[in-house]
Amino acid sequence: MEVQLVEATENPEELICKAARNDYMQEFVGDLTFEETMETVDGDTTEEKMRTLIGHLMDHGHFGPFEHPQATFAVKGVSRSCMAQITRHRHVSFDVRSMRYVAFDDVDPAAVRDGEMVVVPPSATDPDWVGRNQRTADVDEEQVRRREELFRETVADAVESYQELLDLGMPPEDARFVLPIGTKVNIVMSMNVRMLMHVADMRAAADAQWEIRELTEELLDLAADWCPVTFDYYEREMKGRKNRLAP
Ligand SMILES: Cc1cc2nc3c(=O)[nH]c(=O)nc-3n(C[C@H](O)[C@H](O)[C@H](O)COP(=O)(O)OP(=O)(O)OC[C@H]3O[C@@H](n4cnc5c(N)ncnc54)[C@H](O)[C@@H]3O)c2cc1C
Repeated sequence: MEVQLVEATENPEELICKAARNDYMQEFVGDLTFEETMETVDGDTTEEKMRTLIGHLMDHGHFGPFEHPQATFAVKGVSRSCMAQITRHRHVSFDVRSMRYVAFDDVDPAAVRDGEMVVVPPSATDPDWVGRNQRTADVDEEQVRRREELFRETVADAVESYQELLDLGMPPEDARFVLPIGTKVNIVMSMNVRMLMHVADMRAAADAQWEIRELTEELLDLAADWCPVTFDYYEREMKGRKNRLAP
């Protein structure tokens, strides 16, 4: 998996503060400099004032101002299973690589065994991995070896069959029906800061699946550089939100 921040609102936290100050001042924020807008907020520097105001908004659940800054992320190589989970969030905008217009006819099925085109979950290779609703954790070395072999063989066979169906004249949009749910997909997605926190609440939660948790942690790392005051506060003071069980 690879996650990049491709586009984002400049000065997102000035925008959050300006929008929030609008709610509580008689003057029109459009007529003021940012420093004038923040004059009555506690703090010796603009940075301190922003920390005060953003902390206050988060503490009081005043999340509207966080809907103004927007970020666009490019995500490479997550499974279609992870895609199905993240696309449930209705306030996020998505573009997903098509399997109707893109055919995987030049992928070497042997490379699929090693993680090309299909995500290999850690439970296929890690003998100590414990996942949700696992039938048994009590497996011997031979069973672990067979588990990995079976997983790798099955996905490679599926890709080989898919390519044969293409050669036999089946359109990619129908041949794809034989591909595994672990087939990799690239996604471009945009969301505002409020939504990013909501996605983190649910998808970095202890009971979310490892892949979407990893994706969410990558989003949070990028968000911490883009919107440092907000996500520092989110990580430090709102740990209970992120690490709880998903509602
Ligand atoms: C650990 C975990 C397991 C899950 N398992 C399953 C599962 O087995 N099956 C399954 O189908 N889904 C499952 N989900 C998905 C989950 O039910 C939600 O659909 C998904 O997380 C989207 O989040 P959301 O409901 O907060 O909506 P979002 O689309 O992220 O919307 C954000 C918020 O906006 C509000 N909102 C948006 N749309 C509406 C609306 N139409 N009406 C009222 N309020 C709205 C709600 O307050 C919502 O919380 C799971 C999620 C997690 C985290």
